[in-house]
Amino acid sequence: VSESRSEDGMLVGIRVDVTAVKQAQEAAESANKAKTDFMNVLSHELRTPLTVILGYSGLGMKFAESSKARQLVTALKRNEIVWRQSGDQVEGLFDDVAARMMRIDQSGRHLLFLINEMLDFSKLSSGTLAMDLEACDGARMVSTVTDQMESVAAQKGIDLQVQLADCTLLADTHRSQQILFNLVGNAVKFSESGVVSVVMTTTDSHVDIAVTDDGPGIASNELDRIFEPFHQVDSTATRKAGGTGLGLSIAKELASLQDGSVSVVSKLGQGSTFLLRLPLFTAEDDSATASMELE
Ligand code: ADP
Repeated sequence: VSESRSEDGMLVGIRVDVTAVKQAQEAAESANKAKTDFMNVLSHELRTPLTVILGYSGLGMKFAESSKARQLVTALKRNEIVWRQSGDQVEGLFDDVAARMMRIDQSGRHLLFLINEMLDFSKLSSGTLAMDLEACDGARMVSTVTDQMESVAAQKGIDLQVQLADCTLLADTHRSQQILFNLVGNAVKFSESGVVSVVMTTTDSHVDIAVTDDGPGIASNELDRIFEPFHQVDSTATRKAGGTGLGLSIAKELASLQDGSVSVVSKLGQGSTFLLRLPLFTAEDDSATASMELE
């Protein structure tokens, strides 16, 4: 909005830039749509694990009361059957319960992950997320993540190959692992089979951790957008894989709070490489830490 005034300062007209108003209106509408889309995705994401938890805990409760289990115990108590005969049946029942408990445990963990993701996003948005930067063992930080991801990858028939490099980072260990969990998790989530590799290379000042998959790849016009909060490439593969679209935006913010970065190189149909760069711990950092301790 701009004003025009006469020579003696009287207001004689107001000019309103209609294009700017329209642009602001469009931006507000698009933000509103992104919010509604996110609420839809989120409700669906939260409902899936909850349905599993409630379904299996219901079955677990029924099992505890189930006549089959009770009959077996009663028959054993009365010595009507001998343990050797009933052992297999009892073992089968235990296996069944253990499998259901495992699904409940997995779904509970998944819910916790989603809720933590939302909390992190809100802390990053308000600038209240605190980093705990310290000297940390780079190879150990990476292998902690890849060790845990190996079985998840193997379940999908994916071969997780890891190349570690000895180095000391100046980083928040927990937050760096969170970034890597996201990158390796996405590589495994969006690939059907094949190889996911995690390769560390060091320079004088930093370490590069490259996570490469031979999954579906990402179109060039989507490459910047995937780091925007809530953004998911609109494909059946993405929707089938689930997720909130918050992971990469959180990863990028967490890396930059440590003077690092996350970047991507990808070609549709040819897989992707996500690169996490983190600074190395240097002699200067060492003296800075020592002088801080002296103070
Ligand atoms: P989420 O995985 O929860 O959808 P992210 O922020 O981690 O959210 O990723 C955003 C989007 O980027 C994903 O929905 C997917 O479309 C795309 N993407 C991320 N990593 C990969 C990958 N390794 N291969 C193909 N697409 C990917």
